[in-house]
Amino acid sequence: MTAVNLLDFDLDALASWCAQIGEKRFRAQQLFRWIHQKGQADFEQMTDLARSLREKLAAHAQVRALVPTSEHRSADGTVKWLFDVGGGNAIETVYIPEDDRGTLCISSQAGCAVGCRFCATGHRGFSRNLTTGEIVAQLWHAEHTLRRQLGLAAGERAITNVVMMGMGEPLQNYGALVPALRVMLDDHGYGLSRRRVTVSTSGMVPMIERLREDCPVALAVSLHAPDNALRDALVPLNRKYPLAELMQACSDYLERAPRDFITFEYCMLDGVNDSPEQARALVELVNGRGPAAVPGLRVPCKFNLIPFNPFPDSGLACSPRERVQAFARVLQEAGIVTTIRKTRGDDIDAACGQLAGEVRDRTNVRVRLQRRRDGGVEAVPTAAELRA
Ligand code: SAH
Ligand code: SF4
Repeated sequence: MTAVNLLDFDLDALASWCAQIGEKRFRAQQLFRWIHQKGQADFEQMTDLARSLREKLAAHAQVRALVPTSEHRSADGTVKWLFDVGGGNAIETVYIPEDDRGTLCISSQAGCAVGCRFCATGHRGFSRNLTTGEIVAQLWHAEHTLRRQLGLAAGERAITNVVMMGMGEPLQNYGALVPALRVMLDDHGYGLSRRRVTVSTSGMVPMIERLREDCPVALAVSLHAPDNALRDALVPLNRKYPLAELMQACSDYLERAPRDFITFEYCMLDGVNDSPEQARALVELVNGRGPAAVPGLRVPCKFNLIPFNPFPDSGLACSPRERVQAFARVLQEAGIVTTIRKTRGDDIDAACGQLAGEVRDRTNVRVRLQRRRDGGVEAVPTAAELRA
């Protein structure tokens, strides 16, 4: 029998597993705290657990951490880890320190099947979903490594915020994501508040609806275009879930969300989606006006404009600074809080959309996307065509 990986379990699942081996729930809590709060992987060191329990654990379980194959440190303090997850796949995790917080950007899949036009991960294709244990292991490794490296006192936390904005579309790995979120939120685990855990999605409408019921955390939605024609070209998932459905799902999500707004992310692409008219169309959209909107449905939101981070062969360029600022002004003048994301860690390729660990493209997403780009029926336009 292969040993179970205890990182795969949220507290309820750990309690059920403990019950199977004849242990009470409070033992599961103790064990959970040893693993997640103290970073202990060696059962022998869990000194307040009975010897009989430690023996059972050693026989049947493991804390299967991910071992980094590299750790890069940017001049601005950003740290990027590369983890080998087997089968020729590698994923990336990024730590972004700021004055008042430490944010960890976590991957949910090896690759991504959505294939957004401007994203390095999408260009690599898709291999597989990560397990709950592999999602949690990124936080486990970062938290406990950074605590040692930063010399933090007992009880001090390195990571105060988590964003599911690494490689992959988290809502296409829903079954593994939700228990991982529960580990992050659990007081016996990392104790993060729902406001400090953000799931970012390119618009998986049915799963936004499920997340609202199962585990409502902060939601970021990658919008990138004010109309369906352009969004279809940039974010292929839009063909399945067009803007009106997405706006409705965002509005419904807010009924249960820990924050009273949705964060819309918008990657600024030179000459593609960055004109003042497009900014005005966005204002219309989120206020329930215009052809793509649900008539009369206003979605309370903030905008986060992300300067496009180039990667080889993207064929796209970042909007000039003044154009990004002008775009932001249109939104701000309409009363929408809008920030321009500072690019962090670009000297180590850790910036948004640059994460591109090796991926074995098992489902041939890459080939299919390339065919489309080469002029198939569903051709994805080039930057020049998008501009026209
Ligand atoms: N799949 C999810 C989360 C991962 S991507 C999503 O799409 O939301 C995290 C964010 O980085 C998204 O907003 C995405 O649009 C953005 N992004 C992707 N490629 C980028 C690039 N090359 N430059 C800037 N931002 C990018
Ligand atoms: Fe996937 Fe997000 Fe990249 Fe789109 S932007 S390809 S959804 S990781």
